[in-house]
Amino acid sequence: MIVPFLDLKAAYLELQQELDAVYQRVMNSGWYILGKEIEAFEQEFAAYCEAQYCIGVGNGLDALHLILRSLGIGPGDEVIVPANTYIATWLAVSYAGATPVPVEPDEMTYNINPDLIEVAITERTKAILPVHLYGQPADMDPINDLAHHYGLKVIEDAAQAHGARYKGRRTGGLGDAAGFSFYPGKNLGAFGDGGAVVTNDPYIADQVRVLRNYGSRVKYYNEVQGFNSRLDELQAAFLRVKLTKLDEWNERRKLAAQYYLDRLSQTDLKLPYVPEWVTPVWHLFVVSHPQRDKLKNYLDKFGLGTLIHYPIPPHLSDAYTGGLESNWKTNIYPITEAISNQILSIPIGPHLEQTKTTIVVETLLKVLKDDTI
Ligand SMILES: *Cc1c(COP(=O)(O)O)cnc(C)c1O
Repeated sequence: MIVPFLDLKAAYLELQQELDAVYQRVMNSGWYILGKEIEAFEQEFAAYCEAQYCIGVGNGLDALHLILRSLGIGPGDEVIVPANTYIATWLAVSYAGATPVPVEPDEMTYNINPDLIEVAITERTKAILPVHLYGQPADMDPINDLAHHYGLKVIEDAAQAHGARYKGRRTGGLGDAAGFSFYPGKNLGAFGDGGAVVTNDPYIADQVRVLRNYGSRVKYYNEVQGFNSRLDELQAAFLRVKLTKLDEWNERRKLAAQYYLDRLSQTDLKLPYVPEWVTPVWHLFVVSHPQRDKLKNYLDKFGLGTLIHYPIPPHLSDAYTGGLESNWKTNIYPITEAISNQILSIPIGPHLEQTKTTIVVETLLKVLKDDTI
């Protein structure tokens, strides 16, 4: 592989001394679950998101699920989700026992199209769950306006957007609550699974705290049937180190993205579109081409790592084709399906050197110009 899609080990190597010291500190503390490290991380990450509360949980899917539970959303309720997202967004809703109601994306940004949300609202709708896909915030103002008008909650799926801004404000504080993932490949990634709920709502914060810990506030006193989903001390301590680098690493992603946008502007690739009111954090750099599969094959041959995010939309996955309510079974989501057939993620990350982005660009230019595809 000449340019791997993502180099996670490089993240460890850059911070090796600090991370190794943290490992020693936590191991020697003799305390591994719900201790000082998670408390400190929760404060630091809430401050980073410019929000009041952060609750560390087991992963991003649980973060979304526990937010829904904290709001009492369950069987019989509907939650509006993007048709064009990673399946975890839908699974969180299903997990809670509620029904995901998909809405097509905007063709430019790939994020949920606010203009299509209102017709999807019914008497059972309880929340809207926009995703900040690929690190670019969804258009939150019209979403919040609709939610306000219909008395709905707004839950951000911020799993790909740590540090991104919408009209100057950080993700995590743009709705009622947000779910973050610290899966290793995310912009803020742990060395294992992890996640967090971020909110300005003291009620949601309190409920999620209880729900993540067996429904218990006081040991062995269980007020509700909760779950076991806690960010552990070691991962919290690692994340504290990585959080100090997040802005710098997001900046490096941005430089690579700007370079791609400049140098690929004259090709027939469709490039990411960034509205002026967002500051994305470039979790992924996704191009689009009608001959995507051919293009991917050529790039594979040249040793360039590419991936598709995501090849099968949730509504076409086996997980959901059998389960949708009968009136949706004939529904298809043509914009989402077209996107999934044409998108390709090219390498981007805080440890992708300029020499590598140059190789990516030169290879793409060659393949596209040669008319090989
Ligand atoms: C990664 C991701 C999740 C789930 O996070 P996990 O930590 O893997 O559970 C949810 N939504 C989106 C959009 C994601 O990218």
